[in-house]
Amino acid sequence: MARRILVAGNWKLHKTVAESVEMATAVMNGCKRNDLDVLVGPTFVALNAVAMAVKDSGVLVAAQNLYWQDQGAYTAEISGPMIKACGATHVIIGHSERRQYFGETEKTVSLRMGAALKHGLIPIFCIGETIEEREAGQTEDVLVSQLAGGMAGLDSGSAAPVIVAYEPVWAIGTGLTATKEQANEAHATIREYLAGRFGSGLAEDCRILYGGSVKPGNAAELMAQEHVDGALVGGASLKAEDFLGIIAAA
Ligand code: PEP
Repeated sequence: MARRILVAGNWKLHKTVAESVEMATAVMNGCKRNDLDVLVGPTFVALNAVAMAVKDSGVLVAAQNLYWQDQGAYTAEISGPMIKACGATHVIIGHSERRQYFGETEKTVSLRMGAALKHGLIPIFCIGETIEEREAGQTEDVLVSQLAGGMAGLDSGSAAPVIVAYEPVWAIGTGLTATKEQANEAHATIREYLAGRFGSGLAEDCRILYGGSVKPGNAAELMAQEHVDGALVGGASLKAEDFLGIIAAA
């Protein structure tokens, strides 16, 4: 089965509610493709307004994180049911910025993964190596260990909806991009792990996105690779012209 391309934008800590709605509307109106999926990831405070703005258009909406408890005395946290009620269908989990700045661990990633799946939210599960790990020849080990940690407790049924995003840390927001060969090799490693753990059916169906300085100029060659099924885009998802350029190139 051919995997459908997904172009996803992670807006991180950018845009007010009004700016988010404006951007989502521009993406919705400017997107000329119905042969691929397009997703936007606003901040929590803009989630509902963006979901309402793109309702029924086919543009998908993701939260950028979730907490694993549904409710309770957990000041400032946001749960799966709350995200679903906002109209989002996806959630980004384990982004390297969460790992780097907010104490995200394999354990907390796996708790978030379980919570997302329990509530019918599709995880976009981010993994990737640092430059030191790549230069030490540890890329494969790091990817396998992050996959095992974040997907601990899942089986081939519960893991089926998961989307994996390979995001080499050294390529995020740096202007450096993995070559198409580096990206395809890492994605093949991920698919091989998924096949070994969950079976070849799940591995063949699983979408694996590439993230790390994707732009209109490099999107086509990256997404043309056998194992690259789309892109998770940070910086270039913040301007409609750039994001629509990536969608057009996909
Ligand atoms: C990201 O943060 O997920 C990302 C890929 O960022 P950028 O496109 O800016 O490198």
